[in-house]
Amino acid sequence: MHLPSIEPYKIKTVESIQMSTPEQRKKWIKEASYNLFKLNSDQVIVDLITDSGTGAMSDKQWAEVMLGDESYAGSRSFMKLENTVKELTGFRYFIPVHQGRAAENVLFSALVKNGDFVPGNIHFDTTKGHIEYRKATAIDCTIDEAFDITIDHPFKGNIDLHKLEKTLQEYTTEKIPFVLMTITCNSAGGQPVSIENMRAVRTLCDQYGVGFYIDGARFAENAYFIKKREKEFANYSIKEIVKEIFSLSDGMTMSAKKDGLVNMGGFIALNDAKVYEVCSTFAIMYEGFVTYGGMSGRDMGALAQGLTEGVEFDYLESRIGQTAYLGKRLDEFNIPVIKPFGGHAVYIDASKFVPKIPKEEYRAQSLAIELYIVAGIRGVEIGTLLADRDPVTRENRFPKLEMVRLAIPRRVYTLSHMEYVAVAIKKVFDSRDEAKSGYSIKWEAPIMRHFTVELEKI
Ligand SMILES: *Cc1c(COP(=O)(O)O)cnc(C)c1O
Repeated sequence: MHLPSIEPYKIKTVESIQMSTPEQRKKWIKEASYNLFKLNSDQVIVDLITDSGTGAMSDKQWAEVMLGDESYAGSRSFMKLENTVKELTGFRYFIPVHQGRAAENVLFSALVKNGDFVPGNIHFDTTKGHIEYRKATAIDCTIDEAFDITIDHPFKGNIDLHKLEKTLQEYTTEKIPFVLMTITCNSAGGQPVSIENMRAVRTLCDQYGVGFYIDGARFAENAYFIKKREKEFANYSIKEIVKEIFSLSDGMTMSAKKDGLVNMGGFIALNDAKVYEVCSTFAIMYEGFVTYGGMSGRDMGALAQGLTEGVEFDYLESRIGQTAYLGKRLDEFNIPVIKPFGGHAVYIDASKFVPKIPKEEYRAQSLAIELYIVAGIRGVEIGTLLADRDPVTRENRFPKLEMVRLAIPRRVYTLSHMEYVAVAIKKVFDSRDEAKSGYSIKWEAPIMRHFTVELEKI
């Protein structure tokens, strides 16, 4: 008989969840102007708003907090983290920063100029923001399959080599500082990239003489998918796959709030001495001295330990398995979910779930609100509110997909929490025909409106 897989850890400290009733939540969400970002965390039962910085640290990580060396320069904690990153990634140089977007700010300050183009698979929001802030352009070269939710493809995060080569030919390579590959591709739903694709991108980059950098926020989850889905690597350890991934690139930015298993932190790692030198100057200006870069010694120690735990196979099997479990349960209930399931989140197709709510009335947001009222689950709208208005016409932009994302924090919830979420969604699904109207906007900010928007029930 096949034994069920279990979380490869047991619980030493617990944090209470404030339970609440649908009546209480109805009142709270109204007071929050129907914006889930405005809720207090105590008003939420299962919080799936993001997997970023929301994970649980291990006893060994907490021990590192006590061992933290808070010396301004050359601390033991810095050296511990530097050794771990170099050993794990194989890169020659390492700079700590306070989070992923800070790594982007420092690296792009060194490499991206006005008028440049940065091709890649769907760039993450802050990445795109830091490119566009420098009056450069992010060019999306993701494979078409990534945008078709009916297609089951093992590596939906892959870069389309024809699109990439066309881009490399169209814009002179002096205007392309590097190709940026995001693993897993967050904005494509946490979909992985294959080593085969990375190798081909490396070859193209060499051929055209441009750099190749990786946005590695979920590098360990990507490595797990490679082990499971790319034959050549079936017998490799996660660590060996990680080495192989980074050996193909010139450097990386990292949001350690994801696969670093810490609540705050990030870094840059790279091979080029000159780029390192320029980055060091920007790091000192924006982040702090190069041996702490926006992190305290205890943070760096906890991250060193977190990176080590984050590439353990059993951890990843349980982590990705938990996401897949939720996806599978929803699928069994015939709830429209996007497949294949990504590493860190399950996405519900709101257009299929509540088709009677007009898209002008924010379908996905309406569904997210209903999930909150019924069960205290906080997901996030990935739809029209997030897509915002056209900067010129100021009309709403209606994206192809209206989704509710359920992002799963690392090591925080158990399978029984996932079961609760699945059954709650089924309950909402069973009464979906009653949902005919949504919400209208009462107030919104000129940009990034979804964080602060105020809504009214129609
Ligand atoms: C979260 C994230 C970032 C930004 O990192 P922060 O730590 O939130 O600043 C960049 N890229 C990807 C792919 C991410 O998921």
